[in-house]
Amino acid sequence: MTDATNPLLQPSTLPYGLPDYRAIKPEHYLPAFQAGFEEHLREIARITMVRSMPTFENTFEALERSGELLDRVAHAFYTVSSADATPEIQAIDEQLAPLMAAHQDAITLDGPLYWRVRQVYEQRDALALDPEQRYLVERHHREMTHAGAALDDAAKEQLTALNQKLSTLTNTFERNLLNDTNDLAVVFDSASELDGLSQGELSAAARSAADRGLDGKFLITLPLFTGHPALAQTRVRESRRRIMAASLARGSRDNTHDNRPVLLEIVRLRAERASLLGYDSHAASVTADETAGTPDAVEQMLRRLAAPAARNALAERAALQAIVDETEPTPFPVEAHDWAFYTERVRTARYDIDSSALRPWFEAERVLQDGVFFAATRLYGVTFSEREDLVAYHPGARVFEVRDPDGSPVGLYVLDLYTRDSKRGGAWMNAIVSQSRLRGTAPVVVNNLNVPLPGEGEPTLLTLDEVTTLFHEFGHALHGLFATVTYPHFAGTNVFRDFVEFPSQVNEMWILWPEVLDNYARHHETGAPLDPAVIERLRATETFDQGHATSEYLAAAWLDQAWHRLSVEGAGLDDVTGFEAAALTDIGLHDPAVPTRYSSTYFAHVFSGGYSAAYYSYIWSEVLDADTVDWFHENGGLTRENGDRFRERLLGVGGSKDPLEAYRDFRGRDAEIEPLLKRRGLDS
Ligand SMILES: [Zn+2]
Repeated sequence: MTDATNPLLQPSTLPYGLPDYRAIKPEHYLPAFQAGFEEHLREIARITMVRSMPTFENTFEALERSGELLDRVAHAFYTVSSADATPEIQAIDEQLAPLMAAHQDAITLDGPLYWRVRQVYEQRDALALDPEQRYLVERHHREMTHAGAALDDAAKEQLTALNQKLSTLTNTFERNLLNDTNDLAVVFDSASELDGLSQGELSAAARSAADRGLDGKFLITLPLFTGHPALAQTRVRESRRRIMAASLARGSRDNTHDNRPVLLEIVRLRAERASLLGYDSHAASVTADETAGTPDAVEQMLRRLAAPAARNALAERAALQAIVDETEPTPFPVEAHDWAFYTERVRTARYDIDSSALRPWFEAERVLQDGVFFAATRLYGVTFSEREDLVAYHPGARVFEVRDPDGSPVGLYVLDLYTRDSKRGGAWMNAIVSQSRLRGTAPVVVNNLNVPLPGEGEPTLLTLDEVTTLFHEFGHALHGLFATVTYPHFAGTNVFRDFVEFPSQVNEMWILWPEVLDNYARHHETGAPLDPAVIERLRATETFDQGHATSEYLAAAWLDQAWHRLSVEGAGLDDVTGFEAAALTDIGLHDPAVPTRYSSTYFAHVFSGGYSAAYYSYIWSEVLDADTVDWFHENGGLTRENGDRFRERLLGVGGSKDPLEAYRDFRGRDAEIEPLLKRRGLDS
């Protein structure tokens, strides 16, 4: 293959630099990565070989310009490897993982480069830098130091070896999980076993089964988290038990997809790496460069919330047990697989709301156009038009062009809604192209969800949870789309992990906002709006089941901390289940009826994603979120004025200034925790 035939080696000529996925074949990726590595190293060598003294321009600006080819290839590839990891792509990913880690280390641990960075850093007060430039100097210095640039050569060698092993192991973890999740999808022989599911869900399950050659059967595929939406509706207890058992078993069976030894080794190597970098634990090393600062600050927050959350979950369980005792001919103690089902019964009895009966009002296209896009137009004036002429990486991924009120282009938004076997679980946003003034790039961002494909010719009716996920992920998308930074280092969602969930959580506030809800929640056949009484009751249920939801989240957040607070001496363990039980008992959240949102063996956020020792981030940023929701309420809600302020002071700055400073700039003061406690019913 010659360079001229590899479409990744030239900038794309498609609008906004969208990669030309129709021309890109799997065999193009590795050679393009190779070329990207080499070019990047040449660019770095040019920086370090400059004879004159280091300046902002010849060091930092040059650094920010470097690696453009590699960025382009990596963004194009990792978009595909998450959302459409065919066996061919998986194999490339595996080969690539250690190469990528080695390349990153080669740059971060480059001695002459670090020397130049430090020279400029030490003179920063004397240089005429604008605030973004100054923050760039501080961040690069901090990040390189944090990653080991100040270590001696022997230690750097050890560090590089650890990073490469870790990148291979995290890759193995993700591949095992994807394969085990597919293997453990639950097959039912008859529709009667799934009594309670809607016709649409049954035909989706029949279609999934047929796709695997199981004609006439029904296949329930598993989401990433422990629970399953179908548990709320399935009347047959044994079927619920089978679904829950399959979900909990992922990655922990004695087979080739066993993630237990993989995660133990990850934990051990991370502790070793942290020690090499001068920290007591991986958690200490991670939080040192987050807004939280220390694992103790995280622990304090989690413990403060755990006791009231567990108490509320206990009260919720009593209500579920009462219904079981009243309505079941042979009552039984409520177990994990019963929780969602009887919670729905309590919800119906107490608030007269049946969540699954709401689905006809949540047709996906209406939710997107008349809900998600509509709210963004009201707040920010931006408009969305589908570009059917543009093809992304999969036929299921749709491309929308985003424009400002004056018609000027903002970027592209790609939506990939449906689940497939080649897509990893969960929902996420990532950039395909990052915004940067220096490089002259506009953002292209993608949202991925895992909504089951409806039966042939049937509409996609979302659950309220799926509606929430779409609004949430779109909040991340806006963060990426609205970036107005100069340096690519700071684009959009390139902020601290314990800050990044804040804008996405804020965007969830528009789901039940009267003007928005009335616009999108229309019956898909009749066009009738939701009954105002139902809406009233929906709002009343916002703190409902929060004991359970908060407990399962906190349990996972604490598990993540517990694993990653281990020192090198403490990390040589062999019993995953025993460790989990001890950690959860320690924080008062060990309750088999309320399993953790992710067990360790399928906790992708922390063992293969970017959230190790940082899963606490969701509740950490929810403090800012709840405080911001209050601000919108105080200031008239869904208005352009409010939207513009949020966009300008928070979303647009991306990571280009201290996030808590940006928050103060927007809010007029620091965040307060009370709104969060109130929202989750933890204040009494
Ligand atoms: Zn998120």
